[in-house]
Amino acid sequence: MSGTVLDGRRISQEIQQELRPRIEALRAKSRTPTLAVVLVGDNPASQIYVRNKIKTCQELGIRSLSATPPGSIASEELLDIIRNFNSDPEVDGILVQAPLPKQVDAEAAVLAVDPSKDADGFHPCNVGNLVANRLGPRPCTPAGIIEMLKRYAIRLAGKRAVVVGRSDIVGKPMALMLMHENATVTICHSRTENLAEECRRADLLVVAMGKPALITSNYIKPGAVVVDVGMNRITDESEARRLFSHDASRLAAFAKNGSTLVGDVEPFAMEELASAYTPVPGGVGPLTIAMLMANTVKLAEQHLCPGC
Ligand code: NDP
Repeated sequence: MSGTVLDGRRISQEIQQELRPRIEALRAKSRTPTLAVVLVGDNPASQIYVRNKIKTCQELGIRSLSATPPGSIASEELLDIIRNFNSDPEVDGILVQAPLPKQVDAEAAVLAVDPSKDADGFHPCNVGNLVANRLGPRPCTPAGIIEMLKRYAIRLAGKRAVVVGRSDIVGKPMALMLMHENATVTICHSRTENLAEECRRADLLVVAMGKPALITSNYIKPGAVVVDVGMNRITDESEARRLFSHDASRLAAFAKNGSTLVGDVEPFAMEELASAYTPVPGGVGPLTIAMLMANTVKLAEQHLCPGC
């Protein structure tokens, strides 16, 4: 069996196209949606993520502002930057790119963002809104996954969903969103006993662990839908050969670049056993940016017309 590829790039484009008229309408009312991005230090992966976010803003006509303080910044200085964006009436959304350097109080940074400008949906007020299933910005990665599953008409109500990972940014909000869609949800983590057994019960398996290809065929019920959130760069050639022995183009790309991205699920197992699955790359990743744009536009609409 070879399952349906859940094409995150296509869905991301669809979501972005649907945002265009809303952005135009806001601009026509002199409310250009504006996203402020705080990038601390020079982490290369964070720089790439932020560059992609700013590029997508530009393509859509969302204004972006950025602050790029050095990695040596003190917590209080970072909080001042966030507070300045909070008090700027033109700023609709604020995001503080993770990870932050060790000396910075990351929790204080999340708390400092005005909940009504919380583009990532990480502020405890918005976490509470999610728990209560009230309106509010939602964390982008799990929100994108729900959007994609709906657009592929994958039924969630009554299904047994297993989420592996309980981080604040992916696993936990994912589980809550699936529960609100009436799935029966199990959350697994590093202390779960018999992880394979738990996963094999899943009609929908969402994996967000950050452990390259840990989920093998033994963890997947044939016909399950598998969403692989993991993004791990591997540089070991024998590992690449083992994981992509069936994919000559991927091996050629590895030979050229010396590395490749792999998810948390073994690609061959997912392709063979799942009825539908997200590839890595090209699955979940593109959805995250689309939902960040969607959150920013929604916040701008609310700032233009509070209570609408
Ligand atoms: P975290 O490291 O914050 O959380 C990982 C979770 O996985 C933890 O809950 C941990 O359990 C659990 N875990 C780790 N090892 C095991 C194991 N052996 N068995 C069971 N559970 C385990 O990661 P994130 O949630 O931030 O990210 C997860 C992955 O998703 C990463 O690869 C990241 O790069 C990727 N990601 C991709 C995004 C995208 O846009 N595509 C966006 C965000 C993340 P415990 O709590 O017990 O420690």
